[in-house]
Amino acid sequence: IKNKANDYVHEVYALVKKRNPDEAEFLQATREIFDSLRPVFAQHPEYIANGILERITEPERIITFRVAWEDDQGKVHVNRGFRVQFNSELGPYKGGIRFHPTVNSSIMKFLAFEQIFKNALTGQPIGAGKGGSDFDPKGKSEREVMRFTQSFMTELSKYIGPDTDVPAGDIGVGKREIGYMFGQYKRLRGGYAAGVLTGKDPQHGGSLGRKEATGYGTIYFVEEMLRGKNLQFRGSTVVVSGSGNVSTYAMEKAIQLGAKVVACSDSSGYIYDGNGIDVETVKRLKENANRRIWEYVKDHPTAEYHEDCSSIWSIPCDIALPCATQNELDEAAADWLVINGVKAVGEGANMPCTKEAIDVFQENHVLFAPAKAANAGGVAVSAMEMSQNSMRLNWTFEEVDQKLHQVMKDIYQSCINAADDFGHPGNLAMGANIAGFLKVADAMVGHGIN
Ligand code: GLU
Repeated sequence: IKNKANDYVHEVYALVKKRNPDEAEFLQATREIFDSLRPVFAQHPEYIANGILERITEPERIITFRVAWEDDQGKVHVNRGFRVQFNSELGPYKGGIRFHPTVNSSIMKFLAFEQIFKNALTGQPIGAGKGGSDFDPKGKSEREVMRFTQSFMTELSKYIGPDTDVPAGDIGVGKREIGYMFGQYKRLRGGYAAGVLTGKDPQHGGSLGRKEATGYGTIYFVEEMLRGKNLQFRGSTVVVSGSGNVSTYAMEKAIQLGAKVVACSDSSGYIYDGNGIDVETVKRLKENANRRIWEYVKDHPTAEYHEDCSSIWSIPCDIALPCATQNELDEAAADWLVINGVKAVGEGANMPCTKEAIDVFQENHVLFAPAKAANAGGVAVSAMEMSQNSMRLNWTFEEVDQKLHQVMKDIYQSCINAADDFGHPGNLAMGANIAGFLKVADAMVGHGIN
């Protein structure tokens, strides 16, 4: 049986590789899942009989579209828009929209694929999707961002809706862009559909606690993981990469729990302050997309700025939280962290650690919280936003935060249980993949072959 399971995984991976040549990130994400699932197929031959792996690795639908827009000088630009509707077994497609020049089909597919398992882990009724564009918001005026975003939504609006596909934000898309998208959707559809997007401004239709949710959730998850080994945030030194939505609120919550955060970064470089970073300054700077993190040192003379954001991982710390972007932490960085005595790593971004980096952490018994579990708080509160929109009422910040905290504890427990059940106790990466997969695979068996 074990051999049959291994052969199956091997055979389907070869198929996926053949069907998606040159899609490095997508293959990296599928490979990581496949490696975790071997023990599952040995115990569940019905998944092999129902072709679950062949089906779950092929998106239900990929929409690619032209986005034309005019800049402030009247010049016309064309970007490419995407929406990957990967899996709808557990609910409407759900996942963010990313505006970043690196966006391409491989990036969109890996993100949507990860979302399948992440969204299943939240226990909420949401399927998986992801979208975006290679548009670069950096250096664009407010009006240029508005025109681009409206043009993007003009096409996207044909494919989404509160019960079919509910996008949210991701890198380069915050409540401002969500607001413009919401307005354009409303105008095109001629009706107010509160639940068509999440991450809306809490003043008009959004949920309190959504902007904090990914970062806070990552800390709640890591806190559970530390507790399992009698460790805690209090008194720990923490390094957090990034300075966006995830990073900022991860820093805020870590500091609330008594940690000292000594560094954070943006795509140009990082700041280090041995006395501890002041999160309010970072927040103020990053409210404007065109400000850079180096400006922090102007207000904080004890802080240092260093170009080359990847060397942030050479700073000694107890807990490392990569919260910037995919593959930002490689083998060399993992080696540095281990040499400097890191005890735990929590992924706030999606797939921020390379496979080789994860191997280094596991060989050296560093606690490792995988992204699909650790950063699921964002999408979990998005699902809560959908609930509130459907009920036409709003929960308080405290209610949302309390629910988020419980969701993160539950996810931790599901990961621990799945890792135990399938013979890899304590391996949260395997536990997350398996627990998420079981939920979707059972639905796929139940819904028949399609
Ligand atoms: N973009 C976020 C993620 O990676 C949130 C998605 C959502 O809220 O739908 O999970």
